[in-house]
Amino acid sequence: MTTTPPALQHRHQWRGVIEEYRSLLEIPAGTPAITLREGGTPLVHSEWLSGLTRAEVWLKVEGDNPTGSFKDRGMTAAISVAKHAGAQAVVCASTGNTSASMAAYAAKAGLKPLVLVPEGKIAAGKMAQAILHGAQVIMVRGNFDDCLMLAKGLAWEYPVALVNSVNPVRLEGQKTAAFEIVDFLGDAPDYHLLPVGNAGNISAYWLGFSQYAQLGLATKTPIMRGFQAEGAAPLVTGEPFPDPETRATAIRIGNPASWKLAEAARNESGGSFQSVTDDQILSAQRDLAAHDGVFVEPASAAGIAGLLQELAGGESYAGSTVVVTVTGHGLKDTATALEGFASSGQSLVDTVIDADVTAAAVAAGLA
Ligand SMILES: *Cc1c(COP(=O)(O)O)cnc(C)c1O
Repeated sequence: MTTTPPALQHRHQWRGVIEEYRSLLEIPAGTPAITLREGGTPLVHSEWLSGLTRAEVWLKVEGDNPTGSFKDRGMTAAISVAKHAGAQAVVCASTGNTSASMAAYAAKAGLKPLVLVPEGKIAAGKMAQAILHGAQVIMVRGNFDDCLMLAKGLAWEYPVALVNSVNPVRLEGQKTAAFEIVDFLGDAPDYHLLPVGNAGNISAYWLGFSQYAQLGLATKTPIMRGFQAEGAAPLVTGEPFPDPETRATAIRIGNPASWKLAEAARNESGGSFQSVTDDQILSAQRDLAAHDGVFVEPASAAGIAGLLQELAGGESYAGSTVVVTVTGHGLKDTATALEGFASSGQSLVDTVIDADVTAAAVAAGLA
């Protein structure tokens, strides 16, 4: 009898989204993958939301990616293609996560990362990531939309490659999340809910679900429902927001780059765009953490807030399969999470005691 050495039992490490799905991605043949083994994220069953909806509700936990958000899926593709094409430097506009991801993949690729962010609106965790990965960070007196205009202008006039989701290669990488969902569930879900900011992600998911259906790898495509923050809801109102405002900084975008693609995803899937308030978002963030053990950043909870709002409004999901993508990790922005917790009227720390068992037992209500 032979036994397999422990090291060999682990040789099937997930290879990252390019190598796992290369034949389904439109990237130049032979592009070497620059990867941190992104993707392969868990689909976690939510007992809490399944109970509320009388449906099967799954969370696609994208905070489990290498830099803590789904942006890594698109970034492995964009950086691999830019490197292969001979780029020396890459630029992006960002509300935080794109810059964190770009800086990490640029470090791995040996490219120089240049980041444009709105002054004072970046969560501390995301800023720390960009800086530690070696990005040159430029703060702009303006919002994300202004930053994107500058990034496009720089890439147009100077030798830097633009890796925002206006770069179609980003969507090629990001659509792999839809493939993973179908691969895991065995078919597409009935509904797919997610937060929407610049609208690249909803467009990429729709590409992925549609491609799988065309290939016969799924029997259907889901109804797509996108949720925006009330203060930054251009896809809901149909008009750009000149001064977008929300605590959910990752979706604080007034004029989404993928507006047309996102509308097509809504129309072709029979879906909708709806808005939720910051209070609903922060409350959904707390409830998800407390019920399901999944800690997400504020923007990531918009899909959960949306589902709860729909249920309160009498919408029924009973009997269906629902996937809610939670887009980024809660540790990126602990300040907003704790402020939200405190503003719900709860105290952060229950009691302060001396180091004494009896005192601890009394404080805990055990004695
Ligand atoms: C980028 C981002 C979003 C918004 O995705 P879009 O593709 O811009 O619509 C939502 N949540 C998080 C955590 C993000 O980083």
